[in-house]
Amino acid sequence: MEECLFCKIAKKEVPSTIVYEDDDVLAFNDINPVAPVHILLIPKKHISTFFAMEPGDGMLVGKLHEAAVKVARNLGLTEKGFRLVANCQRGGGQLIFHLHYHLIAGRPLGWPPG
Ligand code: 5GP
Ligand code: ZN
Repeated sequence: MEECLFCKIAKKEVPSTIVYEDDDVLAFNDINPVAPVHILLIPKKHISTFFAMEPGDGMLVGKLHEAAVKVARNLGLTEKGFRLVANCQRGGGQLIFHLHYHLIAGRPLGWPPG
């Protein structure tokens, strides 16, 4: 079976600009940034959507969140802040079916989102 793009990025089979990595999480620049800071955070384990989470995966999603905060702190965003977005299923704007967060910052961000 053809593996998903983000699994390939996690295995370094597809190149990406990595900004953070640990045993469970990889963070890399989005190829099509919508803001000066646009980083994707993925679990190295393939989970297609939040609905596909198995028991124990909540820990992993917590690690994604912690990694996002670490990256944001390292980028000096503690005052200006950031937005963490997770699109779920097509109706939520999800195009890549490997669970991920978008860490977006560096310009004024409107609300509500489109
Ligand atoms: P989604 O719409 O699934 O929440 O977000 C998928 C994101 O993956 C998009 O922001 C898109 O720009 C990004 N993306 C798609 N293909 C690649 C790729 O090959 N490399 C990187 N770094 N980002 C990608
Ligand atoms: Zn995957």
